[in-house]
Amino acid sequence: MIKPFYQLHELPENTKLTSVYDSHVHWLMTGEKNSYINLKNFGYLSDIKLTDVAETSFRGEWLFGFGWNDEQFKTLNKKEELDRITTEFPICFIKRDAHSCVLNSRALDIFCKSFSFQKDLMNFLETDINEEFTGVLKETAYYAIYSLIPDLDKNLIKEYLLKGQKYFLDQGVTHIRDMTCSKAQWECLEELFLEKKIKIYSEINFHIDNYQHLVSNILNLAIKAKEKSTDNPFVKVLGIKLFYDGSLGSETALLSKPYLGGETTGQQLWTNQECKEAIKLVWSHGLQISIHTLGDQAVTNIVEICRQLQREKINGILNLEHVQLIKPETIQNMKGLHVRCHMQPTHWLSDKFWLKEKLAPELYQQLFSWEALRKAKIPVFFGSDSPIEEVSLAKIIEALNDSAKNGIPSLQLKTLDLFSHPTKKNGETLISKGKVIKAELIN
Ligand SMILES: [Zn+2]
Repeated sequence: MIKPFYQLHELPENTKLTSVYDSHVHWLMTGEKNSYINLKNFGYLSDIKLTDVAETSFRGEWLFGFGWNDEQFKTLNKKEELDRITTEFPICFIKRDAHSCVLNSRALDIFCKSFSFQKDLMNFLETDINEEFTGVLKETAYYAIYSLIPDLDKNLIKEYLLKGQKYFLDQGVTHIRDMTCSKAQWECLEELFLEKKIKIYSEINFHIDNYQHLVSNILNLAIKAKEKSTDNPFVKVLGIKLFYDGSLGSETALLSKPYLGGETTGQQLWTNQECKEAIKLVWSHGLQISIHTLGDQAVTNIVEICRQLQREKINGILNLEHVQLIKPETIQNMKGLHVRCHMQPTHWLSDKFWLKEKLAPELYQQLFSWEALRKAKIPVFFGSDSPIEEVSLAKIIEALNDSAKNGIPSLQLKTLDLFSHPTKKNGETLISKGKVIKAELIN
């Protein structure tokens, strides 16, 4: 039986929602994204005219854009599409799923000069049938771009955080869980708190690239930030976030069966041993661990690691991010762990067109198992993954309805129970005729 959700406009006039929570956002990137070229506006990427590009789209000499998909190329080799814009200076365009980017030849040259000795990194560069680089960089290689460009200056970080905040509130969200805080972002947030400019409640996770990064930098930062902010009513430092696998769109999510039409089962970005050590270390300091696990094999591996730790009497809070695919037996194995799943229904609306082409039928069955998780009493929270998807309560509802119509087991929850923060009750969002009228923190 499919029980459809109410649309927002079907809610009674002037409905008040309590503490509307987006459980997975990238706060800074949400504010920053609009300074990049919006690639969704172009039929082909080579249609972009440099004369129309704003100064804010540059970081140093690098030109940035966000939001392409595979249909926007008419050249066989992807970098040539960007070379038609220019080869004079480096271009980096980020894919819609933010798990890969494409470079023009100039940028690719700079990248290869800097990293060609790092074999593990170079493995993340896509090649075509002639073994030539296509300009597409996945996962770790894409993130490495940021070490080649100047850091954002503090004033810009603060400006983007405030822009992000305004966007969340405009969409009706008063409570966010940020997944990618850095040292610089945290310092800017501290200043914004002092300046009394923060109007939303945020939960903060610090992002780590690898185990060494955790040990030498981020662990201490997170511990100190948590201590310093205990009395701050606007923020709670939760812990540490890492990427264990990638995305379906970039075929880097770790699956138990190969992607259709290819041999790969995706990418595992951490060894299980290092991942286990990282979880242990984070938990031993009373912090939460949040792990990007999108493919079913990624979820299975992390759950297994945490069960091993539990047998060693080591416990803590495990947040699994995305969980777009999960085996039924893994759900059973989650019971008894302190685990929460953070899912993004809107990804259904973006991905539904090609999921059947990429996933073996057995895997397709495991997609978006929110109802199976609910039945197993595993807490599930919803969010947008902004800026990957727009922040929109209406779209989440649309995605739940549409997925149920298309064979995803329907979530048996009331509309009003979808978005509320689990413990904080200090936010109020007024909805009238399907529109957000006002969203604010109340005392
Ligand atoms: Zn994310």
